[in-house]
Amino acid sequence: MALTLCDVGPRDGLQNEPDTLAPAVRAELVNKLAAAGLPRIEAVSFVRDDRVPQMAGAEEVVAAIERRDGVEYAGLVLNEQGFERLRQTGLDRVNVTLGATDAFNRRNGNASLAEATARVERILAEADRPTTATISVAFGCPFEGEVDPGVVAGLAGKLEADELVLADTIGVAAPSAVRSLVERVKALGKPVGFHGHNTRNTGYANALAALEAGATVLDASIGGLGGCPYAPRATGNIATEDLVYLLEGEGIVTGVDLDALVEISVWLETLLGRTLEGQVYRAGASIVSA
Ligand code: ZN
Repeated sequence: MALTLCDVGPRDGLQNEPDTLAPAVRAELVNKLAAAGLPRIEAVSFVRDDRVPQMAGAEEVVAAIERRDGVEYAGLVLNEQGFERLRQTGLDRVNVTLGATDAFNRRNGNASLAEATARVERILAEADRPTTATISVAFGCPFEGEVDPGVVAGLAGKLEADELVLADTIGVAAPSAVRSLVERVKALGKPVGFHGHNTRNTGYANALAALEAGATVLDASIGGLGGCPYAPRATGNIATEDLVYLLEGEGIVTGVDLDALVEISVWLETLLGRTLEGQVYRAGASIVSA
Protein backbone atom coordinates (compact mmCIF):
# COMPACT_ATOMS: atom_id res chain seq x y z
CA MET A 1 0.00 0.00 0.00
CA ALA A 2 1.21 3.49 -0.82
CA LEU A 3 2.51 5.79 1.88
CA THR A 4 0.29 8.67 2.95
CA LEU A 5 2.18 11.61 4.38
CA CYS A 6 -0.04 13.77 6.55
CA ASP A 7 1.09 17.29 7.39
CA VAL A 8 -0.23 18.21 10.82
CA GLY A 9 1.49 21.61 10.90
CA PRO A 10 -1.69 23.69 10.61
CA ARG A 11 -3.15 21.73 13.52
CA ASP A 12 -0.70 20.03 15.90
CA GLY A 13 2.05 22.44 14.87
CA LEU A 14 0.27 25.76 15.28
CA GLN A 15 -1.74 24.52 18.26
CA ASN A 16 1.47 24.27 20.25
CA GLU A 17 3.05 27.52 19.07
CA PRO A 18 3.04 30.65 21.24
CA ASP A 19 1.85 32.79 18.30
CA THR A 20 -1.76 32.75 17.18
CA LEU A 21 -2.21 33.05 13.43
CA ALA A 22 -5.42 34.36 11.89
CA PRO A 23 -7.68 31.82 10.16
CA ALA A 24 -6.86 33.31 6.73
CA VAL A 25 -3.12 32.73 7.30
CA ARG A 26 -3.74 29.19 8.54
CA ALA A 27 -5.79 28.49 5.41
CA GLU A 28 -2.96 29.92 3.32
CA LEU A 29 -0.61 27.43 4.98
CA VAL A 30 -3.00 24.57 4.18
CA ASN A 31 -3.19 25.74 0.56
CA LYS A 32 0.59 25.96 0.23
CA LEU A 33 0.98 22.43 1.64
CA ALA A 34 -1.61 21.09 -0.78
CA ALA A 35 0.18 22.79 -3.67
CA ALA A 36 3.43 21.12 -2.56
CA GLY A 37 1.80 17.74 -3.12
CA LEU A 38 0.98 16.58 0.41
CA PRO A 39 -1.65 13.85 0.02
CA ARG A 40 -3.24 14.63 3.40
CA ILE A 41 -3.34 17.72 5.58
CA GLU A 42 -4.75 17.98 9.07
CA ALA A 43 -6.11 21.48 8.72
CA VAL A 44 -7.84 22.25 12.01
CA SER A 45 -9.00 20.94 15.35
CA PHE A 46 -12.43 21.63 16.74
CA VAL A 47 -11.74 22.67 20.30
CA ARG A 48 -13.01 25.51 22.44
CA ASP A 49 -11.70 28.89 21.27
CA ASP A 50 -11.17 30.04 24.86
CA ARG A 51 -9.12 26.95 25.70
CA VAL A 52 -7.01 26.85 22.55
CA PRO A 53 -6.95 30.31 20.93
CA GLN A 54 -4.44 29.09 18.32
CA MET A 55 -7.22 26.93 16.84
CA ALA A 56 -10.02 29.52 17.04
CA GLY A 57 -12.12 29.95 13.93
CA ALA A 58 -11.67 26.42 12.58
CA GLU A 59 -14.73 26.85 10.35
CA GLU A 60 -13.21 30.01 8.83
CA VAL A 61 -10.03 28.10 8.03
CA VAL A 62 -11.98 25.32 6.32
CA ALA A 63 -14.05 27.85 4.34
CA ALA A 64 -10.89 29.52 3.03
CA ILE A 65 -9.29 26.26 1.79
CA GLU A 66 -8.93 26.12 -1.99
CA ARG A 67 -9.60 22.45 -2.46
CA ARG A 68 -7.27 20.47 -4.68
CA ASP A 69 -8.03 17.12 -6.24
CA GLY A 70 -6.12 14.27 -4.71
CA VAL A 71 -5.65 16.01 -1.36
CA GLU A 72 -7.48 14.79 1.69
CA TYR A 73 -8.33 17.47 4.25
CA ALA A 74 -8.78 16.21 7.81
CA GLY A 75 -9.89 17.70 11.09
CA LEU A 76 -9.21 16.60 14.66
CA VAL A 77 -11.89 16.20 17.31
CA LEU A 78 -11.67 15.30 20.98
CA ASN A 79 -15.35 15.01 21.80
CA GLU A 80 -18.91 15.07 20.47
CA GLN A 81 -19.11 18.88 20.43
CA GLY A 82 -16.05 18.96 18.20
CA PHE A 83 -17.46 16.26 15.99
CA GLU A 84 -20.75 18.15 15.58
CA ARG A 85 -18.77 21.15 14.35
CA LEU A 86 -16.69 19.05 11.95
CA ARG A 87 -19.84 17.44 10.61
CA GLN A 88 -21.01 20.84 9.33
CA THR A 89 -17.87 21.22 7.22
CA GLY A 90 -16.74 19.62 3.98
CA LEU A 91 -13.64 18.07 5.54
CA ASP A 92 -12.87 14.63 4.12
CA ARG A 93 -11.75 12.83 7.24
CA VAL A 94 -12.33 12.93 10.98
CA ASN A 95 -9.41 12.16 13.26
CA VAL A 96 -10.62 11.39 16.76
CA THR A 97 -8.10 11.05 19.51
CA LEU A 98 -7.72 9.70 23.00
CA GLY A 99 -4.81 8.89 25.29
CA ALA A 100 -3.57 5.41 26.07
CA THR A 101 -3.57 6.03 29.81
CA ASP A 102 -6.11 6.95 32.42
CA ALA A 103 -4.15 9.93 33.77
CA PHE A 104 -3.61 11.45 30.32
CA ASN A 105 -7.32 11.31 29.50
CA ARG A 106 -8.24 12.80 32.87
CA ARG A 107 -5.83 15.71 32.38
CA ASN A 108 -6.68 16.29 28.72
CA GLY A 109 -10.27 15.31 28.29
CA ASN A 110 -11.65 15.24 31.81
CA ALA A 111 -12.51 11.57 31.45
CA SER A 112 -11.24 8.21 32.57
CA LEU A 113 -9.71 5.92 29.96
CA ALA A 114 -12.98 3.94 29.87
CA GLU A 115 -15.04 7.11 29.40
CA ALA A 116 -12.70 8.44 26.71
CA THR A 117 -12.85 5.09 24.90
CA ALA A 118 -16.66 5.10 24.99
CA ARG A 119 -16.68 8.69 23.71
CA VAL A 120 -14.42 7.80 20.79
CA GLU A 121 -16.50 4.70 20.02
CA ARG A 122 -19.68 6.82 19.87
CA ILE A 123 -18.09 9.31 17.48
CA LEU A 124 -16.72 6.54 15.27
CA ALA A 125 -20.15 4.91 15.14
CA GLU A 126 -21.76 8.19 14.04
CA ALA A 127 -19.08 9.33 11.63
CA ASP A 128 -20.28 9.98 8.11
CA ARG A 129 -16.81 10.09 6.49
CA PRO A 130 -13.53 8.17 6.72
CA THR A 131 -12.15 7.94 10.24
CA THR A 132 -8.77 7.84 11.91
CA ALA A 133 -8.38 7.06 15.59
CA THR A 134 -5.16 8.43 17.05
CA ILE A 135 -3.94 6.90 20.29
CA SER A 136 -1.87 9.56 22.07
CA VAL A 137 0.95 8.78 24.48
CA ALA A 138 1.08 5.26 23.01
CA PHE A 139 4.74 4.86 23.98
CA GLY A 140 5.04 6.90 27.14
CA CYS A 141 2.89 9.18 29.26
CA PRO A 142 3.96 12.34 31.10
CA PHE A 143 1.85 11.25 34.11
CA GLU A 144 2.13 7.47 34.15
CA GLY A 145 5.54 6.88 32.55
CA GLU A 146 6.01 3.83 30.38
CA VAL A 147 2.92 2.50 28.64
CA ASP A 148 2.24 -1.21 28.30
CA PRO A 149 2.14 -2.04 24.55
CA GLY A 150 -0.45 -4.70 25.33
CA VAL A 151 -2.81 -2.02 26.66
CA VAL A 152 -2.36 0.07 23.50
CA ALA A 153 -2.90 -2.93 21.23
CA GLY A 154 -6.01 -3.88 23.23
CA LEU A 155 -7.36 -0.34 22.94
CA ALA A 156 -6.63 -0.27 19.20
CA GLY A 157 -8.56 -3.51 18.80
CA LYS A 158 -11.66 -1.96 20.35
CA LEU A 159 -11.84 1.08 18.09
CA GLU A 160 -13.95 0.75 14.96
CA ALA A 161 -11.89 3.27 13.00
CA ASP A 162 -10.86 2.90 9.36
CA GLU A 163 -7.29 3.62 10.36
CA LEU A 164 -5.27 3.63 13.59
CA VAL A 165 -2.47 6.07 14.32
CA LEU A 166 -0.02 5.50 17.17
CA ALA A 167 1.30 8.76 18.58
CA ASP A 168 4.53 9.29 20.45
CA THR A 169 3.11 12.51 21.84
CA ILE A 170 5.98 13.29 24.18
CA GLY A 171 8.73 11.92 21.95
CA VAL A 172 10.14 9.21 24.19
CA ALA A 173 10.04 6.13 21.98
CA ALA A 174 12.99 4.36 20.40
CA PRO A 175 12.70 2.57 17.03
CA SER A 176 12.46 -0.98 18.40
CA ALA A 177 9.37 -0.07 20.45
CA VAL A 178 7.78 1.65 17.46
CA ARG A 179 8.52 -1.29 15.20
CA SER A 180 7.04 -3.81 17.59
CA LEU A 181 3.88 -1.83 18.39
CA VAL A 182 3.19 -1.03 14.73
CA GLU A 183 3.55 -4.74 13.88
CA ARG A 184 1.23 -5.68 16.71
CA VAL A 185 -1.49 -3.19 15.74
CA LYS A 186 -1.03 -3.94 12.05
CA ALA A 187 -2.14 -7.50 12.84
CA LEU A 188 -5.64 -6.09 13.38
CA GLY A 189 -5.83 -5.81 9.59
CA LYS A 190 -6.25 -2.05 9.25
CA PRO A 191 -3.95 0.67 7.96
CA VAL A 192 -1.65 1.84 10.76
CA GLY A 193 0.06 5.20 11.06
CA PHE A 194 2.73 6.75 13.23
CA HIS A 195 2.76 10.26 14.66
CA GLY A 196 6.20 11.10 15.98
CA HIS A 197 7.59 13.99 17.92
CA ASN A 198 11.30 14.71 17.85
CA THR A 199 11.51 15.72 21.49
CA ARG A 200 14.52 13.49 22.14
CA ASN A 201 15.80 13.32 18.57
CA THR A 202 14.46 9.84 17.88
CA GLY A 203 11.52 11.01 15.74
CA TYR A 204 12.97 10.35 12.29
CA ALA A 205 14.46 6.97 13.20
CA ASN A 206 11.06 6.09 14.66
CA ALA A 207 9.21 7.14 11.51
CA LEU A 208 11.49 4.97 9.40
CA ALA A 209 11.05 2.05 11.81
CA ALA A 210 7.28 2.48 11.62
CA LEU A 211 7.41 2.39 7.85
CA GLU A 212 9.59 -0.73 7.84
CA ALA A 213 7.10 -2.38 10.20
CA GLY A 214 4.26 -1.75 7.78
CA ALA A 215 2.88 1.67 8.70
CA THR A 216 1.25 3.35 5.71
CA VAL A 217 0.54 6.76 7.25
CA LEU A 218 3.20 9.08 8.67
CA ASP A 219 2.39 12.37 10.36
CA ALA A 220 4.86 15.24 10.25
CA SER A 221 4.70 18.99 10.62
CA ILE A 222 6.11 21.54 8.17
CA GLY A 223 9.25 23.10 9.59
CA GLY A 224 8.87 20.92 12.69
CA LEU A 225 6.27 23.41 13.91
CA GLY A 226 4.85 22.82 17.33
CA GLY A 227 6.18 21.82 20.67
CA CYS A 228 5.63 19.40 23.44
CA PRO A 229 2.96 20.64 25.85
CA TYR A 230 4.59 18.61 28.66
CA ALA A 231 8.14 19.79 28.04
CA PRO A 232 7.88 23.50 27.29
CA ARG A 233 11.47 23.91 26.10
CA ALA A 234 11.36 20.88 23.79
CA THR A 235 10.87 20.60 20.05
CA GLY A 236 7.68 19.33 18.47
CA ASN A 237 6.73 17.12 15.58
CA ILE A 238 9.23 15.78 13.11
CA ALA A 239 9.60 18.21 10.20
CA THR A 240 7.83 17.21 7.00
CA GLU A 241 10.62 18.38 4.71
CA ASP A 242 13.27 16.54 6.76
CA LEU A 243 11.18 13.38 6.62
CA VAL A 244 10.66 13.76 2.86
CA TYR A 245 14.41 14.22 2.38
CA LEU A 246 15.06 11.05 4.38
CA LEU A 247 12.40 8.99 2.62
CA GLU A 248 13.39 10.08 -0.88
CA GLY A 249 17.01 9.29 0.00
CA GLU A 250 15.84 5.81 0.92
CA GLY A 251 14.19 5.44 -2.47
CA ILE A 252 10.66 5.90 -1.17
CA VAL A 253 8.63 8.03 -3.55
CA THR A 254 6.57 10.55 -1.60
CA GLY A 255 5.16 12.58 -4.48
CA VAL A 256 5.90 15.72 -2.47
CA ASP A 257 7.91 18.65 -3.88
CA LEU A 258 10.76 19.12 -1.42
CA ASP A 259 11.75 22.53 -2.80
CA ALA A 260 8.19 23.74 -2.31
CA LEU A 261 8.24 22.53 1.31
CA VAL A 262 11.50 24.40 1.90
CA GLU A 263 9.89 27.58 0.56
CA ILE A 264 6.96 27.14 2.94
CA SER A 265 9.28 26.82 5.93
CA VAL A 266 11.19 29.94 4.85
CA TRP A 267 7.84 31.75 4.64
CA LEU A 268 6.86 30.47 8.09
CA GLU A 269 10.19 31.52 9.56
CA THR A 270 9.52 35.10 8.45
CA LEU A 271 5.92 34.93 9.59
CA LEU A 272 6.77 33.61 13.07
CA GLY A 273 9.97 35.61 13.38
CA ARG A 274 12.10 32.75 14.57
CA THR A 275 14.16 29.86 13.33
CA LEU A 276 12.13 26.67 13.01
CA GLU A 277 13.23 23.24 14.20
CA GLY A 278 13.46 21.69 10.75
CA GLN A 279 16.99 21.38 9.42
CA VAL A 280 16.57 20.73 5.71
CA TYR A 281 15.09 24.16 5.01
CA ARG A 282 18.15 25.77 6.60
CA ALA A 283 20.70 23.48 4.96
CA GLY A 284 18.95 23.46 1.59
CA ALA A 285 17.39 20.50 -0.16
CA SER A 286 20.26 20.22 -2.63
CA ILE A 287 23.79 19.16 -1.75
CA VAL A 288 25.17 21.58 -4.35
CA SER A 289 25.59 25.12 -2.96
CA ALA A 290 23.70 27.82 -4.75
ZN1 ZN B 1 1.57 15.61 18.00
